[in-house]
Amino acid sequence: MQLDLATLPAPKLDPLESLLARHPTGPLANLVEHDAPPADAALEAFPASLAHAETKRAHFDLRGYARTRNHLEGGVSRLSPYVTWGVYTPRELLDDVASRHGRHDKDLAKFTSEIGWKAYFREGFRALGARVYRSLEPYKYPRAEDEPGLPPGIETAETGLDCIDTLVATLLDTGYLHNHGRMWLAAWWVHYARHAWQDGEAFLYRHLLDGEPGPNALSWQWVASTYAGKPYAFNVENMHRFGLNGCDGTSFDATYDELDARFFAGHREGGYARRGHDHPSTVPGPPRPDLLRPPTTAPMVVLHAERLSTRAHVLLEHPDAPVAVYLDARRLERERPSRKRLAFAVRLAADLVTHLRDEGRAADLFLLEDEAELAHHARALTRDGFVAPDSWHPGTWNTLGRLDTHAPVAVTPDAPLAEVQADLRSFSSYWRKAEGQVTRRLGSLFS
Ligand SMILES: Cc1cc2nc3c(=O)[nH]c(=O)nc-3n(C[C@H](O)[C@H](O)[C@H](O)COP(=O)(O)OP(=O)(O)OC[C@H]3O[C@@H](n4cnc5c(N)ncnc54)[C@H](O)[C@@H]3O)c2cc1C
Repeated sequence: MQLDLATLPAPKLDPLESLLARHPTGPLANLVEHDAPPADAALEAFPASLAHAETKRAHFDLRGYARTRNHLEGGVSRLSPYVTWGVYTPRELLDDVASRHGRHDKDLAKFTSEIGWKAYFREGFRALGARVYRSLEPYKYPRAEDEPGLPPGIETAETGLDCIDTLVATLLDTGYLHNHGRMWLAAWWVHYARHAWQDGEAFLYRHLLDGEPGPNALSWQWVASTYAGKPYAFNVENMHRFGLNGCDGTSFDATYDELDARFFAGHREGGYARRGHDHPSTVPGPPRPDLLRPPTTAPMVVLHAERLSTRAHVLLEHPDAPVAVYLDARRLERERPSRKRLAFAVRLAADLVTHLRDEGRAADLFLLEDEAELAHHARALTRDGFVAPDSWHPGTWNTLGRLDTHAPVAVTPDAPLAEVQADLRSFSSYWRKAEGQVTRRLGSLFS
Protein backbone atom coordinates (compact mmCIF):
# COMPACT_ATOMS: atom_id res chain seq x y z
CA MET A 1 0.00 0.00 0.00
CA GLN A 2 1.33 3.42 -0.96
CA LEU A 3 0.89 5.92 1.89
CA ASP A 4 -0.51 9.38 1.26
CA LEU A 5 1.86 11.70 3.14
CA ALA A 6 0.18 15.05 2.50
CA THR A 7 0.09 17.26 5.62
CA LEU A 8 1.31 14.87 8.29
CA PRO A 9 1.66 16.29 11.80
CA ALA A 10 5.15 17.40 12.90
CA PRO A 11 7.74 14.67 13.66
CA LYS A 12 7.14 15.09 17.41
CA LEU A 13 3.47 14.13 17.07
CA ASP A 14 1.88 10.76 16.42
CA PRO A 15 1.03 10.57 12.68
CA LEU A 16 -1.10 7.43 12.85
CA GLU A 17 -4.58 9.00 13.27
CA SER A 18 -3.97 11.29 10.36
CA LEU A 19 -2.75 8.39 8.20
CA LEU A 20 -5.63 6.16 9.27
CA ALA A 21 -8.10 8.85 8.21
CA ARG A 22 -6.70 8.52 4.69
CA HIS A 23 -6.21 4.73 4.83
CA PRO A 24 -9.04 3.39 7.01
CA THR A 25 -8.64 -0.16 5.68
CA GLY A 26 -5.62 -2.24 4.72
CA PRO A 27 -2.33 -3.11 6.44
CA LEU A 28 -1.99 0.10 8.44
CA ALA A 29 -5.41 -0.29 10.06
CA ASN A 30 -4.47 -3.88 10.99
CA LEU A 31 -1.20 -2.78 12.57
CA VAL A 32 -2.20 0.18 14.72
CA GLU A 33 -2.97 -0.56 18.37
CA HIS A 34 -6.24 1.36 18.32
CA ASP A 35 -6.73 1.36 22.09
CA ALA A 36 -3.20 2.60 22.89
CA PRO A 37 -2.66 6.30 23.63
CA PRO A 38 -0.96 8.41 20.94
CA ALA A 39 2.81 8.06 20.83
CA ASP A 40 3.47 11.74 21.52
CA ALA A 41 5.69 11.24 24.60
CA ALA A 42 7.99 8.87 22.72
CA LEU A 43 8.15 11.16 19.69
CA GLU A 44 8.80 14.15 21.94
CA ALA A 45 11.79 12.29 23.43
CA PHE A 46 12.87 10.83 20.06
CA PRO A 47 11.49 12.99 17.24
CA ALA A 48 11.11 10.88 14.13
CA SER A 49 13.00 13.07 11.71
CA LEU A 50 16.39 13.21 10.08
CA ALA A 51 16.88 16.83 11.14
CA HIS A 52 16.27 15.99 14.81
CA ALA A 53 18.62 13.02 14.58
CA GLU A 54 21.27 15.33 13.14
CA THR A 55 20.79 17.85 15.95
CA LYS A 56 20.99 15.11 18.57
CA ARG A 57 24.10 13.67 16.96
CA ALA A 58 25.78 17.06 16.60
CA HIS A 59 25.13 17.88 20.27
CA PHE A 60 26.34 14.56 21.65
CA ASP A 61 29.46 15.24 23.70
CA LEU A 62 31.64 12.22 24.35
CA ARG A 63 33.53 13.75 27.26
CA GLY A 64 32.89 11.71 30.42
CA TYR A 65 31.25 8.82 28.52
CA ALA A 66 33.50 6.09 29.95
CA ARG A 67 33.02 7.29 33.53
CA THR A 68 29.29 8.00 33.44
CA ARG A 69 27.71 5.69 30.86
CA ASN A 70 26.59 3.06 33.38
CA HIS A 71 24.65 5.63 35.36
CA LEU A 72 20.98 6.16 34.44
CA GLU A 73 21.67 9.89 34.18
CA GLY A 74 25.05 9.33 32.50
CA GLY A 75 26.26 10.81 29.24
CA VAL A 76 24.99 8.25 26.74
CA SER A 77 23.94 9.38 23.28
CA ARG A 78 20.35 8.04 23.14
CA LEU A 79 20.91 7.77 19.40
CA SER A 80 20.17 4.06 19.11
CA PRO A 81 16.65 4.40 17.64
CA TYR A 82 18.26 6.23 14.72
CA VAL A 83 20.97 3.59 14.36
CA THR A 84 18.47 0.73 14.43
CA TRP A 85 16.44 2.23 11.57
CA GLY A 86 19.59 3.05 9.64
CA VAL A 87 19.70 6.85 9.76
CA TYR A 88 23.32 6.12 10.67
CA THR A 89 25.29 2.95 10.25
CA PRO A 90 27.36 2.12 13.35
CA ARG A 91 30.42 3.15 11.35
CA GLU A 92 28.97 6.50 10.31
CA LEU A 93 27.98 7.32 13.87
CA LEU A 94 31.36 6.31 15.25
CA ASP A 95 33.27 8.28 12.62
CA ASP A 96 31.15 11.39 13.18
CA VAL A 97 31.46 11.24 16.95
CA ALA A 98 35.19 10.45 16.82
CA SER A 99 35.94 13.29 14.38
CA ARG A 100 34.23 15.82 16.59
CA HIS A 101 35.87 14.41 19.72
CA GLY A 102 39.21 14.71 17.98
CA ARG A 103 41.43 12.45 20.07
CA HIS A 104 42.00 8.89 21.18
CA ASP A 105 41.19 8.60 24.87
CA LYS A 106 39.24 6.33 27.15
CA ASP A 107 35.89 7.95 26.26
CA LEU A 108 36.39 7.23 22.58
CA ALA A 109 37.73 3.73 23.31
CA LYS A 110 34.61 2.91 25.35
CA PHE A 111 32.21 4.36 22.79
CA THR A 112 34.01 2.45 20.03
CA SER A 113 33.58 -0.83 21.89
CA GLU A 114 29.87 -0.12 22.55
CA ILE A 115 29.38 0.46 18.83
CA GLY A 116 31.30 -2.79 18.44
CA TRP A 117 28.64 -4.56 20.52
CA LYS A 118 26.00 -3.50 18.02
CA ALA A 119 28.07 -4.87 15.15
CA TYR A 120 28.74 -8.07 17.12
CA PHE A 121 25.04 -8.68 17.78
CA ARG A 122 24.16 -7.93 14.16
CA GLU A 123 26.75 -10.50 13.08
CA GLY A 124 25.12 -12.87 15.57
CA PHE A 125 21.71 -12.38 13.98
CA ARG A 126 23.16 -12.80 10.50
CA ALA A 127 24.73 -16.07 11.59
CA LEU A 128 21.84 -17.43 13.65
CA GLY A 129 18.67 -15.96 12.12
CA ALA A 130 15.56 -17.09 14.02
CA ARG A 131 17.72 -19.33 16.26
CA VAL A 132 18.41 -16.19 18.36
CA TYR A 133 14.91 -16.81 19.79
CA ARG A 134 15.81 -20.25 21.20
CA SER A 135 18.21 -20.78 24.09
CA LEU A 136 21.59 -21.30 22.48
CA GLU A 137 23.04 -23.08 25.52
CA PRO A 138 21.68 -24.47 28.79
CA TYR A 139 21.33 -22.18 31.79
CA LYS A 140 24.55 -22.13 33.80
CA TYR A 141 22.73 -22.68 37.10
CA PRO A 142 20.07 -25.18 38.21
CA ARG A 143 16.76 -23.68 37.25
CA ALA A 144 13.20 -24.71 38.13
CA GLU A 145 10.33 -24.53 35.61
CA ASP A 146 9.56 -21.00 34.35
CA GLU A 147 6.57 -19.25 35.88
CA PRO A 148 3.77 -19.20 33.29
CA GLY A 149 2.95 -16.03 31.31
CA LEU A 150 4.24 -12.53 31.92
CA PRO A 151 5.12 -11.18 35.38
CA PRO A 152 1.83 -9.88 36.85
CA GLY A 153 1.36 -6.13 36.37
CA ILE A 154 4.26 -5.76 33.94
CA GLU A 155 2.18 -4.44 31.05
CA THR A 156 0.95 -1.46 33.06
CA ALA A 157 4.06 -0.90 35.21
CA GLU A 158 2.22 -2.16 38.28
CA THR A 159 4.31 -5.06 39.48
CA GLY A 160 4.38 -3.57 42.98
CA LEU A 161 8.17 -3.22 42.83
CA ASP A 162 8.82 0.50 42.51
CA CYS A 163 12.22 0.17 40.87
CA ILE A 164 10.91 -2.20 38.19
CA ASP A 165 7.77 -0.11 37.69
CA THR A 166 9.90 3.01 37.18
CA LEU A 167 11.85 1.24 34.44
CA VAL A 168 8.76 -0.17 32.76
CA ALA A 169 6.89 3.16 32.95
CA THR A 170 9.82 4.85 31.18
CA LEU A 171 9.82 2.15 28.53
CA LEU A 172 6.05 2.34 27.98
CA ASP A 173 6.16 6.10 27.79
CA THR A 174 9.26 6.79 25.70
CA GLY A 175 10.19 3.51 23.98
CA TYR A 176 13.71 3.78 25.39
CA LEU A 177 15.51 2.36 28.37
CA HIS A 178 19.07 2.98 29.46
CA ASN A 179 21.34 -0.05 28.98
CA HIS A 180 21.69 -0.58 32.73
CA GLY A 181 17.89 -0.40 33.09
CA ARG A 182 17.55 -3.09 30.41
CA MET A 183 20.05 -5.28 32.25
CA TRP A 184 18.23 -4.91 35.59
CA LEU A 185 14.82 -5.48 34.03
CA ALA A 186 16.02 -8.59 32.19
CA ALA A 187 17.86 -10.05 35.19
CA TRP A 188 14.90 -9.41 37.48
CA TRP A 189 12.53 -10.99 34.94
CA VAL A 190 14.60 -14.11 34.36
CA HIS A 191 16.36 -14.81 37.66
CA TYR A 192 14.24 -13.25 40.41
CA ALA A 193 10.69 -13.32 38.98
CA ARG A 194 11.62 -16.55 37.14
CA HIS A 195 9.79 -15.92 33.89
CA ALA A 196 10.96 -17.08 30.47
CA TRP A 197 13.55 -14.82 28.83
CA GLN A 198 11.74 -15.26 25.50
CA ASP A 199 8.64 -13.49 26.84
CA GLY A 200 10.79 -10.68 28.22
CA GLU A 201 12.54 -10.36 24.89
CA ALA A 202 9.24 -10.07 23.03
CA PHE A 203 7.86 -7.56 25.55
CA LEU A 204 10.91 -5.30 25.35
CA TYR A 205 11.20 -5.59 21.56
CA ARG A 206 7.60 -4.53 20.99
CA HIS A 207 8.12 -1.35 23.01
CA LEU A 208 11.68 -0.30 22.19
CA LEU A 209 12.07 2.22 19.39
CA ASP A 210 15.52 0.68 18.87
CA GLY A 211 14.32 -2.94 19.25
CA GLU A 212 16.44 -5.14 17.02
CA PRO A 213 16.47 -8.96 16.92
CA GLY A 214 20.21 -9.58 17.41
CA PRO A 215 20.98 -6.99 20.10
CA ASN A 216 17.77 -7.68 21.97
CA ALA A 217 17.48 -11.48 21.91
CA LEU A 218 21.21 -12.06 22.39
CA SER A 219 21.36 -9.55 25.28
CA TRP A 220 18.52 -11.43 26.98
CA GLN A 221 20.40 -14.68 26.45
CA TRP A 222 23.57 -13.10 27.81
CA VAL A 223 21.73 -12.00 30.96
CA ALA A 224 19.98 -15.38 31.29
CA SER A 225 23.30 -17.26 30.83
CA THR A 226 22.14 -19.19 27.75
CA TYR A 227 24.72 -17.24 25.71
CA ALA A 228 27.30 -16.59 28.42
CA GLY A 229 29.40 -18.38 30.99
CA LYS A 230 27.37 -17.17 33.96
CA PRO A 231 24.10 -15.36 34.74
CA TYR A 232 24.10 -11.58 35.10
CA ALA A 233 22.88 -10.67 38.59
CA PHE A 234 22.45 -7.34 40.38
CA ASN A 235 21.34 -6.20 43.81
CA VAL A 236 19.59 -3.14 45.19
CA GLU A 237 22.90 -1.59 46.18
CA ASN A 238 23.98 -1.70 42.54
CA MET A 239 20.73 0.01 41.54
CA HIS A 240 21.30 2.76 44.11
CA ARG A 241 24.85 3.27 42.92
CA PHE A 242 23.77 3.80 39.33
CA GLY A 243 20.71 5.92 39.97
CA LEU A 244 17.61 3.82 40.71
CA ASN A 245 15.69 3.60 43.98
CA GLY A 246 12.49 2.00 45.14
CA CYS A 247 13.29 -1.63 45.89
CA ASP A 248 14.69 -1.55 49.40
CA GLY A 249 13.58 -4.53 51.45
CA THR A 250 12.82 -6.72 48.41
CA SER A 251 14.16 -10.24 47.84
CA PHE A 252 17.05 -8.82 45.80
CA ASP A 253 18.02 -6.26 48.46
CA ALA A 254 20.80 -8.60 49.53
CA THR A 255 24.49 -9.34 49.21
CA TYR A 256 25.68 -11.30 46.19
CA ASP A 257 26.26 -14.34 48.39
CA GLU A 258 22.70 -14.13 49.65
CA LEU A 259 21.38 -13.73 46.10
CA ASP A 260 23.39 -16.75 45.09
CA ALA A 261 21.86 -18.90 47.81
CA ARG A 262 18.36 -17.51 47.16
CA PHE A 263 18.16 -17.55 43.38
CA PHE A 264 21.07 -19.53 41.95
CA ALA A 265 21.00 -22.57 44.24
CA GLY A 266 24.33 -21.59 45.76
CA HIS A 267 25.90 -22.26 42.43
CA ARG A 268 28.49 -19.49 42.55
CA GLU A 269 30.24 -21.39 45.31
CA GLY A 270 30.69 -24.53 43.25
CA GLY A 271 31.26 -22.80 39.92
CA TYR A 272 28.95 -22.51 36.98
CA ALA A 273 28.31 -25.17 34.38
CA ARG A 274 30.75 -24.79 31.51
CA ARG A 275 29.87 -23.46 28.10
CA GLY A 276 29.61 -25.91 25.22
CA HIS A 277 31.87 -25.90 22.19
CA ASP A 278 29.13 -25.26 19.67
CA HIS A 279 28.90 -21.54 18.93
CA PRO A 280 28.32 -19.32 15.91
CA SER A 281 30.88 -17.49 13.85
CA THR A 282 30.57 -14.67 11.34
CA VAL A 283 29.08 -15.59 8.00
CA PRO A 284 31.21 -14.33 5.12
CA GLY A 285 29.44 -12.43 2.33
CA PRO A 286 25.78 -11.51 1.96
CA PRO A 287 22.92 -14.04 1.88
CA ARG A 288 22.41 -13.29 -1.85
CA PRO A 289 25.84 -12.65 -3.42
CA ASP A 290 24.17 -12.80 -6.85
CA LEU A 291 22.54 -9.44 -6.08
CA LEU A 292 25.95 -7.72 -5.77
CA ARG A 293 26.08 -6.81 -9.43
CA PRO A 294 26.04 -3.75 -11.67
CA PRO A 295 22.75 -1.87 -11.80
CA THR A 296 20.52 -1.64 -14.85
CA THR A 297 20.59 1.55 -16.91
CA ALA A 298 17.51 3.20 -15.35
CA PRO A 299 16.99 1.78 -11.86
CA MET A 300 14.75 2.89 -9.03
CA VAL A 301 16.34 3.26 -5.59
CA VAL A 302 14.73 1.14 -2.88
CA LEU A 303 15.33 2.06 0.78
CA HIS A 304 14.28 -0.47 3.42
CA ALA A 305 13.77 -0.39 7.19
CA GLU A 306 17.46 -0.94 7.93
CA ARG A 307 18.51 2.15 5.93
CA LEU A 308 16.12 5.05 6.35
CA SER A 309 18.80 7.54 5.46
CA THR A 310 19.87 10.13 2.93
CA ARG A 311 23.42 8.88 3.44
CA ALA A 312 22.88 5.53 1.71
CA HIS A 313 25.51 5.04 -0.94
CA VAL A 314 22.89 4.05 -3.55
CA LEU A 315 21.38 7.53 -3.32
CA LEU A 316 24.71 9.18 -4.01
CA GLU A 317 25.39 6.82 -6.91
CA HIS A 318 21.99 7.46 -8.49
CA PRO A 319 21.32 11.14 -7.84
CA ASP A 320 18.42 11.41 -10.29
CA ALA A 321 16.68 8.10 -9.71
CA PRO A 322 13.23 8.01 -8.14
CA VAL A 323 13.08 6.41 -4.70
CA ALA A 324 10.69 3.93 -3.10
CA VAL A 325 11.00 3.78 0.69
CA TYR A 326 9.24 0.79 2.21
CA LEU A 327 8.37 -0.80 5.55
CA ASP A 328 7.46 -4.46 5.30
CA ALA A 329 3.83 -4.88 6.39
CA ARG A 330 4.25 -8.67 6.63
CA ARG A 331 7.16 -8.37 9.06
CA LEU A 332 5.35 -5.72 11.08
CA GLU A 333 2.27 -7.95 11.31
CA ARG A 334 4.41 -10.75 12.74
CA GLU A 335 6.16 -8.43 15.17
CA ARG A 336 3.05 -6.50 16.36
CA PRO A 337 4.99 -3.33 17.33
CA SER A 338 3.63 -1.06 20.03
CA ARG A 339 1.93 2.06 18.81
CA LYS A 340 4.99 4.20 19.57
CA ARG A 341 7.39 1.90 17.72
CA LEU A 342 5.11 1.85 14.67
CA ALA A 343 4.56 5.62 14.84
CA PHE A 344 8.32 6.21 15.06
CA ALA A 345 9.11 3.98 12.08
CA VAL A 346 6.33 5.30 9.86
CA ARG A 347 7.04 8.95 10.69
CA LEU A 348 10.80 8.52 10.18
CA ALA A 349 10.23 6.84 6.80
CA ALA A 350 7.76 9.60 5.86
CA ASP A 351 10.28 12.24 6.87
CA LEU A 352 12.89 10.63 4.64
CA VAL A 353 10.47 10.75 1.71
CA THR A 354 9.70 14.42 2.39
CA HIS A 355 13.41 15.16 2.57
CA LEU A 356 14.06 13.46 -0.76
CA ARG A 357 11.14 15.28 -2.38
CA ASP A 358 12.52 18.59 -1.07
CA GLU A 359 15.76 17.70 -2.82
CA GLY A 360 13.80 17.37 -6.05
CA ARG A 361 13.50 13.58 -6.19
CA ALA A 362 10.41 11.56 -6.95
CA ALA A 363 9.96 9.60 -3.69
CA ASP A 364 7.13 7.54 -2.19
CA LEU A 365 6.45 5.45 0.91
CA PHE A 366 5.03 1.94 0.81
CA LEU A 367 3.71 -0.34 3.50
CA LEU A 368 4.68 -3.36 1.47
CA GLU A 369 2.47 -6.44 1.24
CA ASP A 370 3.76 -7.80 -2.04
CA GLU A 371 6.90 -7.09 -4.09
CA ALA A 372 4.73 -6.87 -7.21
CA GLU A 373 3.56 -3.50 -5.88
CA LEU A 374 7.07 -2.04 -6.13
CA ALA A 375 7.60 -3.65 -9.52
CA HIS A 376 4.39 -2.08 -10.80
CA HIS A 377 5.40 1.32 -9.39
CA ALA A 378 8.83 1.10 -11.06
CA ARG A 379 7.31 0.16 -14.42
CA ALA A 380 4.91 3.10 -14.22
CA LEU A 381 7.97 5.37 -13.83
CA THR A 382 9.72 3.54 -16.74
CA ARG A 383 12.44 2.12 -14.49
CA ASP A 384 14.09 -1.12 -15.58
CA GLY A 385 15.40 -2.42 -12.24
CA PHE A 386 16.21 -1.58 -8.64
CA VAL A 387 19.21 -0.58 -6.57
CA ALA A 388 19.20 -1.02 -2.80
CA PRO A 389 21.54 -0.76 0.18
CA ASP A 390 22.54 -3.97 1.95
CA SER A 391 20.94 -5.03 5.21
CA TRP A 392 21.75 -6.93 8.41
CA HIS A 393 18.25 -8.47 8.24
CA PRO A 394 17.94 -11.75 6.31
CA GLY A 395 14.22 -10.97 5.74
CA THR A 396 15.15 -7.90 3.70
CA TRP A 397 17.43 -9.99 1.51
CA ASN A 398 14.48 -12.34 0.93
CA THR A 399 12.33 -9.38 -0.10
CA LEU A 400 15.04 -8.14 -2.45
CA GLY A 401 15.35 -11.66 -3.84
CA ARG A 402 11.61 -11.78 -4.57
CA LEU A 403 11.75 -8.29 -6.08
CA ASP A 404 14.51 -9.54 -8.34
CA THR A 405 12.08 -12.00 -9.96
CA HIS A 406 10.18 -8.95 -11.28
CA ALA A 407 13.14 -6.80 -12.37
CA PRO A 408 16.90 -6.99 -11.65
CA VAL A 409 17.98 -5.84 -8.19
CA ALA A 410 21.55 -4.61 -7.57
CA VAL A 411 22.70 -4.18 -3.97
CA THR A 412 25.34 -1.60 -3.07
CA PRO A 413 26.65 -2.19 0.46
CA ASP A 414 27.43 0.69 2.78
CA ALA A 415 30.85 0.43 4.42
CA PRO A 416 30.72 -1.97 7.40
CA LEU A 417 32.26 -1.22 10.81
CA ALA A 418 34.73 -4.05 10.26
CA GLU A 419 35.08 -7.01 7.95
CA VAL A 420 36.45 -9.98 9.84
CA GLN A 421 36.12 -13.71 10.15
CA ALA A 422 35.52 -14.22 13.83
CA ASP A 423 34.19 -16.57 16.42
CA LEU A 424 31.01 -15.11 17.95
CA ARG A 425 31.22 -17.06 21.22
CA SER A 426 31.70 -13.82 23.10
CA PHE A 427 32.04 -10.13 22.34
CA SER A 428 35.74 -10.33 23.19
CA SER A 429 36.34 -13.12 20.68
CA TYR A 430 34.75 -10.94 17.97
CA TRP A 431 36.31 -7.69 19.12
CA ARG A 432 39.80 -9.16 19.31
CA LYS A 433 39.60 -9.48 15.51
CA ALA A 434 37.62 -6.32 14.72
CA GLU A 435 39.07 -3.72 17.06
CA GLY A 436 42.39 -3.24 15.25
CA GLN A 437 40.64 -2.58 11.95
CA VAL A 438 38.33 -0.03 13.54
CA THR A 439 40.94 1.84 15.56
CA ARG A 440 43.35 1.99 12.60
CA ARG A 441 40.64 3.70 10.59
CA LEU A 442 39.87 6.09 13.43
CA GLY A 443 43.59 6.87 13.62
CA SER A 444 43.48 8.00 9.99
CA LEU A 445 40.63 10.40 10.84
CA PHE A 446 42.94 12.23 13.25
CA SER A 447 46.07 12.27 11.12
C1 LIG B 1 18.21 -6.84 27.73
C2 LIG B 1 18.81 -5.88 26.73
C3 LIG B 1 18.15 -5.65 25.54
C4 LIG B 1 18.70 -4.79 24.58
N1 LIG B 1 18.03 -4.59 23.39
C5 LIG B 1 18.58 -3.81 22.43
C6 LIG B 1 17.94 -3.63 21.19
O1 LIG B 1 16.87 -4.16 20.92
N2 LIG B 1 18.54 -2.82 20.27
C7 LIG B 1 19.74 -2.21 20.51
O2 LIG B 1 20.24 -1.49 19.65
N3 LIG B 1 20.38 -2.40 21.68
C8 LIG B 1 19.84 -3.16 22.65
N4 LIG B 1 20.50 -3.31 23.84
C9 LIG B 1 21.81 -2.70 24.01
C10 LIG B 1 21.83 -1.29 24.65
O3 LIG B 1 21.05 -1.28 25.81
C11 LIG B 1 21.35 -0.18 23.71
O4 LIG B 1 21.99 -0.27 22.45
C12 LIG B 1 21.71 1.19 24.31
O5 LIG B 1 21.06 1.32 25.54
C13 LIG B 1 21.36 2.27 23.36
O6 LIG B 1 21.35 3.52 23.99
P1 LIG B 1 22.30 4.70 23.54
O7 LIG B 1 22.13 4.99 22.09
O8 LIG B 1 22.04 5.83 24.47
O9 LIG B 1 23.71 4.05 23.79
P2 LIG B 1 25.18 4.68 23.78
O10 LIG B 1 25.84 4.29 25.04
O11 LIG B 1 25.17 6.11 23.43
O12 LIG B 1 25.88 3.85 22.65
C14 LIG B 1 26.06 4.31 21.30
C15 LIG B 1 25.56 3.24 20.36
O13 LIG B 1 26.26 2.03 20.55
C16 LIG B 1 25.38 0.92 20.44
N5 LIG B 1 25.35 0.22 21.74
C17 LIG B 1 25.63 0.74 22.95
N6 LIG B 1 25.59 -0.23 23.90
C18 LIG B 1 25.25 -1.36 23.26
C19 LIG B 1 25.05 -2.71 23.68
N7 LIG B 1 25.21 -3.10 24.95
N8 LIG B 1 24.70 -3.62 22.76
C20 LIG B 1 24.55 -3.26 21.46
N9 LIG B 1 24.75 -2.03 21.00
C21 LIG B 1 25.09 -1.08 21.89
C22 LIG B 1 24.02 1.47 20.09
O14 LIG B 1 23.87 1.44 18.69
C23 LIG B 1 24.09 2.90 20.57
O15 LIG B 1 23.26 3.76 19.85
C24 LIG B 1 19.95 -4.17 24.82
C25 LIG B 1 20.60 -4.41 26.03
C26 LIG B 1 20.03 -5.26 26.98
C27 LIG B 1 20.77 -5.49 28.26
